[in-house]
Amino acid sequence: MKIGLFGGTFNPVHMGHVRVAEEIREKYALSKIVFIPAFLPPHKKAPCIPAEHRYAMVQLAIADNPLFDVSDVELARRGSSYSIDTISCFNDVYKNSAELFFIMGIDAFKEIHTWKEYPLFFQSCHFIVMNRPGHGEQGADECIPQDIAGDFTPAGEEGLYRHTSGSTVGFCTITLLDISSTDIRNRIHEGKSIKYLVHHAVEAYIKEQGLYL
Ligand code: ATP
Repeated sequence: MKIGLFGGTFNPVHMGHVRVAEEIREKYALSKIVFIPAFLPPHKKAPCIPAEHRYAMVQLAIADNPLFDVSDVELARRGSSYSIDTISCFNDVYKNSAELFFIMGIDAFKEIHTWKEYPLFFQSCHFIVMNRPGHGEQGADECIPQDIAGDFTPAGEEGLYRHTSGSTVGFCTITLLDISSTDIRNRIHEGKSIKYLVHHAVEAYIKEQGLYL
């Protein structure tokens, strides 16, 4: 079994998130994708609405897809949401019965050297790194942190690198969707439409709860 772990702030979850998750699931033949909303994202500068709202919106956005799931592991843990703790929790649950693939955008991966215990990530699971509008065409040479670059070798396929531990980091090209939570929050704040940028159930939830005004 191959499981994708898709961590994020999801403030709010948008169609970019769900579409890229679907594309990655298909491309890597993953059995399912687990969306993992952060309780307290250590790397975001913008203030976040409570995690319970962000979790509820992810539930609504993925409700019609049986191959998508949402985990409350970071909400339950509370405190700063460090991905290394989350990966280790999923490794404990699945032991050797599943291969784990942590999914992230290139914008997030470029900051990975600032994440808690980041060198350990590459011993703990595989990584799938997606391109994103506005973040260039950089490959592994520019993105894998210098101090651990020597632990990786090209693994044959284009954009695929193997760590000395055996796990891989794959840089993949997906359909570019220029949608971000920041833009959605700004649109709401300015009284503009967010129709088709978020799932209609998420749009309704935001309205009902009066979020991001
Ligand atoms: P914000 O605008 O508030 O920074 P965001 O739109 O980047 O939010 P996050 O919840 O931070 O959303 O994203 C979770 C993960 O999804 C990150 O790894 C991010 O790179 C990736 N991601 C988000 N939107 C896209 C997109 N449109 N295309 C590709 N990857 C994306």
